[in-house]
Amino acid sequence: MTEKVVRKKIAAARDIGQFMADYYLELDQASKTGEHKIAWCTSVGPAEILRAMGFLVYFPETHSAMLGSTRMATDLIRHANALGYSPEICSYLTADIGAYVQGVTPLTKPFGIERVPRADVLMYNTNQCRDVQDWFAWYAREFDAPLLGVHTHRGVGEVTDDHVLSIARQMEELVEPLEQVAGRPFDMDEFKEVVALSRACSDIWKEVLDTAAAAPSPVTFFDGTTLMGPAVVGRGTQEALDVFEVLLAELKERVENHEGAVAGERFRIYWEGMPVWGRLRAHSELFASRGACVLASTYCNSWIFSALDPADPFTSMARAYTELFIVRSDEAKEAYIERMLDFFQIDGIIYHNARTCPNNSNSRYGMPQRLTEKTGVPSLIIDGDLNDLRCLSDEQTQTNVEAFMEQLEENR
Ligand code: SF4
Repeated sequence: MTEKVVRKKIAAARDIGQFMADYYLELDQASKTGEHKIAWCTSVGPAEILRAMGFLVYFPETHSAMLGSTRMATDLIRHANALGYSPEICSYLTADIGAYVQGVTPLTKPFGIERVPRADVLMYNTNQCRDVQDWFAWYAREFDAPLLGVHTHRGVGEVTDDHVLSIARQMEELVEPLEQVAGRPFDMDEFKEVVALSRACSDIWKEVLDTAAAAPSPVTFFDGTTLMGPAVVGRGTQEALDVFEVLLAELKERVENHEGAVAGERFRIYWEGMPVWGRLRAHSELFASRGACVLASTYCNSWIFSALDPADPFTSMARAYTELFIVRSDEAKEAYIERMLDFFQIDGIIYHNARTCPNNSNSRYGMPQRLTEKTGVPSLIIDGDLNDLRCLSDEQTQTNVEAFMEQLEENR
């Protein structure tokens, strides 16, 4: 028999919900009135340049994650398949395009918004995958808007000056076409200000996530996935900083009072890979009911950009967006995870093998086995997907997680 699930709610979630409402309503207003130019940007794209030039910035990945968490995604994927986008490719892409052609959005129910904002320009960075380029290319044709992008290195071991300079040059070359869309010149001082704000946002988001090193952890990975919105869509703004201050204060208070996010925390788990957006609650309860706190993840850490430096904005941005986990070689990724296991005092790792995102699935080429051999920390691979719920079996996941928990119990 499983124990009663006790998970403690985070009060600042309400403030973050309001932040997200304001963010989407401002975009909707601008889209209707044309009072601001709107740029679409990939989640780890060069948002700072766009913001410094006065664009409101919209991030389709966050929209598609909402399609996932509202469980709208799975049914919409087939409408993109019908346009030639395979069910095997990114289910963020297919769900999002499917929603667009069907004229639906998860923004309607909470915010009364009927459609996603139009794009005046679209900006991708292939640092995460090629799918974002194809995704944005579809919308560029739809909106008849310019498509700009940064083509990055992949599988990077050590990030060298050559890597950084080649990316920094591409970023500098974005300025001229963006000036044409924005109808105003680029201002280096404004850019530096935005980079400073973005760095501050990254620092405070890191502080938030690092509170999970406390035992018991005041926050779970599942909380993190719903609290991270401002780090993605609001980096470079004061409002994101303000709302994270509220969140950080609450988590610090929890740490001081030894209040755990999961009552009676017995096991500390690291999550590697994408969340299963349509199963956040179910997975949160599944682990919590067994006294396991999934408390840290590569995913939530992906919006930490510690290299950003307003004194050298282009070069530091190039470094920050190339040092990211997803851009790196397996050796660099393994060294990173090892540091996380140590910092967060982890008892076990879950690898989510997301069917439609090989880019964020690190269980396919022996990494779990190598890391367990090296660190002694056991791991479990869960087959699933970020948005396509046909790719997972809830029964299988439950059985495997229960067996894994027994293994951890025996290892104690
Ligand atoms: S990294 Fe994965 S989930 Fe994200 S856009 Fe690329 S393929 Fe999709």
